[in-house]
Amino acid sequence: MAEKVPFEQKVLSENDRIAAEIRGALNQRKIFSFNMVSSPGSGKTSLLEKTISAIGSQVNIAVIAGDVQTENDAQRLLRAGCKLVRPIVTGGACHLDANMVSRALKELELENTDLLVIENVGNLVCPSSYDLGEDMKIVVMSTTEGDDKPLKYPAMFRRSSVMVVNKIDLLGTSDFDLEMVKANALKVNGTLTIIETSCRTGAGLDQWYAWLQEQIAHKKQKS
Ligand code: MG
Ligand code: ZN
Repeated sequence: MAEKVPFEQKVLSENDRIAAEIRGALNQRKIFSFNMVSSPGSGKTSLLEKTISAIGSQVNIAVIAGDVQTENDAQRLLRAGCKLVRPIVTGGACHLDANMVSRALKELELENTDLLVIENVGNLVCPSSYDLGEDMKIVVMSTTEGDDKPLKYPAMFRRSSVMVVNKIDLLGTSDFDLEMVKANALKVNGTLTIIETSCRTGAGLDQWYAWLQEQIAHKKQKS
């Protein structure tokens, strides 16, 4: 039985092949892309709504919105003014894979797109194993979660380039320790960029937009 390739390994290598195709297509068009991962309820969609309202007139944003059930998030993003939104309803699957993203991309007009956001299913475990062809993963945490999450789900924090700590307006209403979560995150990934935001008060959002626009501009300059 030693020569048998485990099923999961086969699935992942097929996934990597498709992800490489996606990455090639996005690079060719110089589209900056990120894969947004988090637990359910961290505020991914709210952050995207704010982002679309704030910079959507300067940069063309396309979003692939993954959810286990319902297209509610995609509807919210359309209402926020995003013209290019594709929902993926996984029908139970707890993560997006490259094949799902590839199919969704075929239905998106990427001609003038500057930024592609892939909003993953809320889950900090298996989305870390699936490359979707993105430039980077961004993990969103909120202050309503445990500040030890980076230690409990290290793979996700290790594979992310940025950690957004959202809902900072709620600091002080629980035992969540901002300095502790940052220290824990940096313990598993010393190169993590950390941005603190509140979609309710707007705190930190300018820094988030500036960071994002810098990445988009940087990608455009790449040959
Ligand atoms: Mg959402
Ligand atoms: Zn999964």
